[in-house]
Amino acid sequence: MADKIKTPRTSELEFGGPLGALLLLFVMPGTVLYLLVTCNTDDASVLRVPGPFPSLDTLWDPSAVILLLAWVSLQAVLHILPIGKVTEGITLRDNTRLKYRINALQAMMVTALLVGGAVMFGFPFSYVYDHFLQLAVAAAFIALVLSIFLYAKSLAAPESALAPGGNSGNPLYDFFIGHELNPRIGSFDLKYFCELRPGLIGWCLINLCFMMKEVELRGSPSLSMMLVFGFQALYVADAMKNEEAILTTMDIVHDGFGFMLAFGDLCWVPFTYSLQGYFLVRHPQELGTYTALGIILLNAVGYIIFRGSNSQKNAFRRNPSDPKVAGLATIPTATGKRLLVSGWWGLVRHPNYLGDLIMALAWSLPCGLSNILPYFYIIYFTVLLVHREARDEHQCMKKYGLAWQEYCRRVPYRIFPYIY
Ligand code: NDP
Repeated sequence: MADKIKTPRTSELEFGGPLGALLLLFVMPGTVLYLLVTCNTDDASVLRVPGPFPSLDTLWDPSAVILLLAWVSLQAVLHILPIGKVTEGITLRDNTRLKYRINALQAMMVTALLVGGAVMFGFPFSYVYDHFLQLAVAAAFIALVLSIFLYAKSLAAPESALAPGGNSGNPLYDFFIGHELNPRIGSFDLKYFCELRPGLIGWCLINLCFMMKEVELRGSPSLSMMLVFGFQALYVADAMKNEEAILTTMDIVHDGFGFMLAFGDLCWVPFTYSLQGYFLVRHPQELGTYTALGIILLNAVGYIIFRGSNSQKNAFRRNPSDPKVAGLATIPTATGKRLLVSGWWGLVRHPNYLGDLIMALAWSLPCGLSNILPYFYIIYFTVLLVHREARDEHQCMKKYGLAWQEYCRRVPYRIFPYIY
């Protein structure tokens, strides 16, 4: 039966089609390498020619590969433990719904306990800072091998299991975007696992390692490092707590699992999102108490907007009569679903992106204003969210037509009130 249901060919190619995909295959790992090499120089200046780049021999370290595989295995074991509820994803093309174990927060807490124990036993956490480039290269290598495996596996998958976004028929493009929607080994969902756990929890652990390196170098962690660590740990814990919400995101529903997400989850997120901490170890910054309080306030404002808007929409989508959202103004659509037009979703059309970007700024400010490198995250993230917003608008216009036009008329700004 499933074999008879076909996923339509992807006609609208993104990222410039196969050529763009080919370019990104090199640009993504190249950017990680460039950022880390530049960050590790005395002036961390992005203006001069990068380098000198370490030789291939020094970049390739089998122990880094082994360490990362051990890390991913630990997270995989924590994921399959029969702890936490099992929930169902959205209805698929063949009318089935996949089951997912929800226990990312528990996995993060167990990891924190294990790491706490390792700190007490004097585990050499500064290894991560000292071998950061080698670890990033190892992560890129693992992502590449995984993507090749995923593409090979997708060739044997039933037509109904292919991703609506990654079924163009062009092998390079489909390899990049991801050909199969929900590749699984038995009941182990590879995309769902990689989206949250090894990379995001790994990002937190990396920040902790940077803090330990500061302690080794200067006797105690700096206020700047503590802020960066605290803000980003809160963000990751929030993502783990709201794990179920990713089941309705574009990544899970639309994109397949290919190089783009595998590299993004396993290399890009942990090794570029932690750039502020990496920067602070070599370029310490003095932070006054009032400046620190101002930055904490900024992060809190961002978090309130981010969490408030995401929770409001999730509550509304789950149950529009929920007393928390029942009083909000809405627009009916031809699909039967309604669109929120007041509350956070009446402020701008993507208030959750606004909150996320305010937090991104608060994560970079502890690194001072003299260098642009630690601001890489907010610059990249602005580009990503503006592009993502355009993708989402396009999908919503197709889904809701006139109702979406009415929403755009009543809420004219996309992300930044009165600006954009
Ligand atoms: P959103 O959570 O913004 O979801 C968009 C969907 O919400 C639309 O397709 C539509 O779907 C629904 N929607 C839009 N407007 C309304 C409305 N007015 N009323 C009701 N429903 C509406 O998408 P994302 O997955 O992009 O973002 C989720 C969060 O993840 C954000 O906070 C984002 O910042 C964050 N994020 C973080 C990243 C990172 O690297 N740190 C990367 C990407 C995202 P429908 O109508 O079908 O329900």
